[in-house]
Amino acid sequence: MNTPWGFEDFDAHEDLHFVWTEASGLKAIIAIHSTHLGPAAGGCRFWHYADAAEGLKDALRLSRGMSYKNAMAGLPLGGGKAVIIADEKRTKTPAMLHEFGKAVDNLCGRYVTAEDVGMSVADMIEIRRQTKFVAGLPVEGSAVGGDPGPHTSLGVFLGIKAAVRRALGKDSLQGLHIALQGAGSVATGVAMHAAAEGATLSIADVDAAKAQKLADAAGGKVVGADEILGLEADVLSPCALGAIFDEKSIAELKVPIVAGGANNQLATPEDGARMNARGILYAPDYVINAGGIINVCIEFLRSGDASVVRQKIEGIPDRLEQIWAESAETGRDPASVADAMAQRLIGRA
Ligand code: NAD
Repeated sequence: MNTPWGFEDFDAHEDLHFVWTEASGLKAIIAIHSTHLGPAAGGCRFWHYADAAEGLKDALRLSRGMSYKNAMAGLPLGGGKAVIIADEKRTKTPAMLHEFGKAVDNLCGRYVTAEDVGMSVADMIEIRRQTKFVAGLPVEGSAVGGDPGPHTSLGVFLGIKAAVRRALGKDSLQGLHIALQGAGSVATGVAMHAAAEGATLSIADVDAAKAQKLADAAGGKVVGADEILGLEADVLSPCALGAIFDEKSIAELKVPIVAGGANNQLATPEDGARMNARGILYAPDYVINAGGIINVCIEFLRSGDASVVRQKIEGIPDRLEQIWAESAETGRDPASVADAMAQRLIGRA
């Protein structure tokens, strides 16, 4: 990677904005990776990081992921991401959100924000008071909008089915065991779709009460957050945070398929090859989890209705198939194949 600043994850990002307003307490980073295909779009994450460097690393990695995701989903959008660096108590006030909205507005449309971990539709309404460059707003009438989470879940569910078809030769999740990491917005939709098709679910969240609530709703069982990655199952679906697959955790996997919605699941590019060497079919995260940004894009550009969103999300399994086919043909792991495809699309081959 190109590292003129000495930041490990700097990848020729077009620009980086550090926002701090003392009165509101807002501390945020907006990273614009690429505007090659259109305005840089990607959600805003609200998270308590150990330090600002960790927040910067997240913004750099997530924004590059958005460039790849938007390109692979065929959207006329570039890639960007914002992180709001929360304090230990995760204090979030309207004033902070307004200041964040002003910072987004100052970029005059080069960056479009939406929900990510820790941000809600209500937060987008606050941000909207200061800028029009925001999506994930409440739906009005039959217009496309609202929480992108359920759309992400649908794409992940369809991606899991495609992986099951390829790796296990089955057309249904009936009777299959799915290990789900996370019990938040994306995981909830995945669990409900999978349960409706007859899958058995094991669910883990660092917030055990949340895991229990989802297990009750979907008919699954709760397992410990430290057990889920090593659980024996047909599919592991990571739907929490990133960088969970490294040399150690990959060696302990007991699943033939990894397919989930979390961003940046692989700690390093080598981890894609490690997973492939173990014969595990991996669904590149930014391809399988594009459902939410598809909805955001169509909402923001007003370029279609719910049926267009659904049709585009239904294209996710085909893209995964294309990647897996090239991977099988060349021996390169699916994550590297997807990266190369995405880099070509954003003019950085
Ligand atoms: P969320 O905040 O609703 O849920 C995340 C859940 O993960 C929380 O319940 C949290 O307690 C749990 N968690 C955190 N660390 C964990 C760990 N180590 N083990 C188990 N659980 C843990 O967030 P979300 O919107 O569901 O997003 C989940 C992931 O999907 C994130 O990586 C996000 O970037 C990605 N993603 C989300 C969307 C979307 O539309 N919401 C779109 C694309 C990608």
